Amino acid sequence: MHIAFIGLGNMGAPMARNLLKAGHALTVFDLNAQAVADLRDAGAASAASARAAAAEADFVITMLPAAAHVRSAYLGSDGVLAGVRAGVPLVDSSTIDPATIRELAKTAAAQGNPMADAPVSGGTGGAQAGTLTFMVGAEAALFEQIKPVLAGMGRNVVHCGGTGTGQVAKICNNLILGISMVGVAEAMALGEKLGIDPKVLAGIVNTSTGRCWASDTCNPFPGVIETAPAGRGYSGGFGAALMLKDLGLAADAARSVGQPLFLGAQAQQVYQSMTQLGEGALDFSGVIRQYRGKQA
Ligand code: NAD
Repeated sequence: MHIAFIGLGNMGAPMARNLLKAGHALTVFDLNAQAVADLRDAGAASAASARAAAAEADFVITMLPAAAHVRSAYLGSDGVLAGVRAGVPLVDSSTIDPATIRELAKTAAAQGNPMADAPVSGGTGGAQAGTLTFMVGAEAALFEQIKPVLAGMGRNVVHCGGTGTGQVAKICNNLILGISMVGVAEAMALGEKLGIDPKVLAGIVNTSTGRCWASDTCNPFPGVIETAPAGRGYSGGFGAALMLKDLGLAADAARSVGQPLFLGAQAQQVYQSMTQLGEGALDFSGVIRQYRGKQA
């Protein structure tokens, strides 16, 4: 299959590499020339715009930071919809709001292109290992059509329902994740202050009812989990600014249906503070520095 892949950041680049490994032909585009050059070295062709990349493709995937980037990559004069042939399926794997993808899918359908939302979980490690979970919002026939391609980048490809429901699943998952990371950071910092060895505390939590991904895989306390971003200065994970964005998506979505978010709103403020202090590019587990200071 000839795939256009647009957005070669922390997630998109390893996902694109896995598609090459799966035997697909790729044409890539990113605003960052170095990201494009790296993929070219790995065997992809490159194009000068999203429009040009899509024009050659039988399948289009985008992996971009936020809704504004997705809108511009599809609707801009050099965007996907200006170049793509009718009938080619479009898949956006960015985390954005359900309303934007529903609106984009309507516009794409009007020119004959079916469009799905397929946000992912699993982080940069999952993107590299090809073990992501894809949460897909699409009509059933489109889901069956795109599933084999997504399976080349992930272990679980789940049909969540119609367009936009993939984003609903993703937003709700990240609401839990954002809150639980603050909870684990708060408890680990308190335990340290009260005199328990953080490794012992984490060991107890991870065999007790406090266990969660934030405690047993991405523990924010340095040295507790060797492979966690905390062990490498909070680099190379899921940026706090992206978590802040996702909690904002949850807040907007909750407002649109009149639903309260007591803890989501508080967690949003904690990541807002971290970002305001210039730490938005750190992994979101660096939120523990709000409790321990920069020593963490
Ligand atoms: P990133 O910032 O590392 O990469 C985004 C890439 O998009 C950059 O290379 C940027 O140059 C490119 N870009 C921006 N606008 C563009 C445009 N108009 N045309 C072409 N390229 C453009 O972000 P990321 O970490 O790869 O995340 C991508 C998406 O995946 C986000 O929505 C994020 O919330 C979501 N996500 C991230 C993770 C993670 O762990 N990083 C996990 C799950 C989901």
